[in-house]
Amino acid sequence: MPLQGFAQVRDPTRLDARGGGRARGNMKSFIYTAQASRVIFGLNSLENIEHEVVQVGAQRALVLSTPEQRPEAEKVASRLGNRTAGIFAEAVMHVPIESARAARDKAAQLGADCAVAIGGGSTIGLAKAIALESTLPIIAIPTTYAGSEMTSIYGVTEDGIKRTGRDPRVLPRTVIYDPALTTSLPVGLSAASGMNAIAHAVEGLYAQDSNPVISLLAEEGIRAMALGLRRVVVAPNDLEARSDCLYGAWLCGIVLGGVGIALHHKLCHTLGGSFNLPHAATHAVVLPHAVAFNAPAAPEEMQRICRALGTESAAAGIFDLAKALGLPQSLRDLGLGAHDLDRASDLAMLSPYWNPRPFLLADIRELLRRAYEGDRPS
Ligand code: NAD
Repeated sequence: MPLQGFAQVRDPTRLDARGGGRARGNMKSFIYTAQASRVIFGLNSLENIEHEVVQVGAQRALVLSTPEQRPEAEKVASRLGNRTAGIFAEAVMHVPIESARAARDKAAQLGADCAVAIGGGSTIGLAKAIALESTLPIIAIPTTYAGSEMTSIYGVTEDGIKRTGRDPRVLPRTVIYDPALTTSLPVGLSAASGMNAIAHAVEGLYAQDSNPVISLLAEEGIRAMALGLRRVVVAPNDLEARSDCLYGAWLCGIVLGGVGIALHHKLCHTLGGSFNLPHAATHAVVLPHAVAFNAPAAPEEMQRICRALGTESAAAGIFDLAKALGLPQSLRDLGLGAHDLDRASDLAMLSPYWNPRPFLLADIRELLRRAYEGDRPS
């Protein structure tokens, strides 16, 4: 199913209710679809990998990674012994079609009957590209906080255009979360990846199709991630802090997989896609401003964010968290030019995503100006 801005395709089965089912008075009305996957969470849980391959009924696993994470892929392969079909360590950002084809060919050539992806969203995205055409089950071992492992969203890039969609075949069957695999994630990447996860949860709270279960997961995901990140930036090897972050990443990933997104993601996709700004860091800069804009339309959701962060203001709380984590504070810091603001605003108005607060071009221009300057939302 092709996807426009991930979840903005109208689902005729979706109810009109949103905001945790607070549609009419106190009566709740919502649809909740659980995404079935098995999750193994805990320190050294990677030790279960062979058992999990057997669990999905597979004999020959193709292990995927980026070139940088080949040593981790080799460790997985050696744990799997003769259940390893081979290693494909050529995952790259945004899943170029050429790498998807090469991985599919390798899987077929080796007679692989399952894909084991160890890495971040790029490697898991490659496994999804294989599963899309082969129905091979995926076992995901995430090593960042991006959350792709909990979604049925795929993306493949061809001729410079990333085609995204949702398909139940690409949802990983099993996910192994092992905090020991994340201590090597550099502090800057950890912080940006964690803020990216928080952005998924924040927009899931006020998504058009949100529901009470997603709201609980989102609030807890934000709380755990913020708590963990504050400690990770001072002590990257703190396994308890890493565990909190990975737990938060799991919950925020469920939110991303379960409901839609809104204006904030549209802005980030525009800035990333048309101005080449870094994906996760852009989320960290834009989120406080998108939240400040949406706050009047989503007061209950703002309360949840405040509770999760222990702050009085959701927008300022997110801004202060990103600052405390040492992340860039402005689009200017990320390399956007002041002259790009008009074009970015125009592009963000094209095929807009659903948003709790209606907006005009002038609103977007002002929001982006604030993000460009890096002003703290009041
Ligand atoms: P990534 O997978 O691109 O990884 C970035 C770099 O960090 C890579 O070089 C990788 O090898 C390295 N790395 C990963 N984990 C490491 C670790 N523990 N230690 C050291 N190095 C490590 O980064 P990402 O942010 O996880 O993924 C971004 C991609 O995922 C984007 O293309 C985004 O669109 C996609 N994404 C997809 C979904 C979805 O639901 N489909 C969700 C979130 C993100």
